[in-house]
Amino acid sequence: MLNREIKTILEKSKNWGWVLEPDAKRIFSMSGFQTPMYAVVKKPQEAIAAAHAIGYPVVVKIVSPDIIHKSDVRGVVVGIKDDDRLVAALEKFRKLPGFVGMLIDEMAGGLELIMGAKNDEQFGPMILLGFGGVGVEIYKDISLRMAPLKKPHVEDMMRELKAYPLLTGYRGAKPVNIAAVQKTLIRFSTLMMDMKDYFESVDLNPVMCGEKVCTVVDARIMLKNTR
Ligand code: ADP
Ligand code: MG
Repeated sequence: MLNREIKTILEKSKNWGWVLEPDAKRIFSMSGFQTPMYAVVKKPQEAIAAAHAIGYPVVVKIVSPDIIHKSDVRGVVVGIKDDDRLVAALEKFRKLPGFVGMLIDEMAGGLELIMGAKNDEQFGPMILLGFGGVGVEIYKDISLRMAPLKKPHVEDMMRELKAYPLLTGYRGAKPVNIAAVQKTLIRFSTLMMDMKDYFESVDLNPVMCGEKVCTVVDARIMLKNTR
């Protein structure tokens, strides 16, 4: 079941057709997902105060209803370590189309996975799991299942990935907490079922999974066109 605040966010986002990243992060964090600490700011003094509260290094991102793919317009800067660079990023973002704020994110770590959902007219939410980063477009190493997912489905989905050994600690790399991946994907499938009247597609790209947790660092919710 979606709570009232989630419904309110989804309703207001229909004005531009998708859910801005800070609102999407709020939806995911309210639904029990791990997200980075974050804040949205407009002015240098607010940015500095928020970055200090979160703690450097931080990641900053453009928030604009006109910008869906933030990196394409240089709207993401990772690893900001001081006030000067923070304020410089804000000044640049303010010139981008549709600027409504700058998102400041705590830096997360881990292997970049993708969790996605497509809302099929006939079958309902189809859930995708894959590896993130540039690799996803090159290797098309993904697995798909119809929601809702249970533990055995999720185990199969993980094992289907050619790059599965990366999760278990290939060649001395640190292994990922497999139970956390499973839990996150099951929770994702449940939320997608609850949201199925609202969304067309959802991309968590990436979810960063480490030895302990999976953190949703980017979330894009494209809404159904109901007008
Ligand atoms: P885009 O709209 O371009 O997909 P993202 O929010 O996914 O923007 O950011 C681009 C990249 O920056 C991510 O793929 C990830 O590698 C990195 N990144 C974003 N947010 C964080 C974060 N909070 N911690 C660590 N890395 C991050
Ligand atoms: Mg992304």
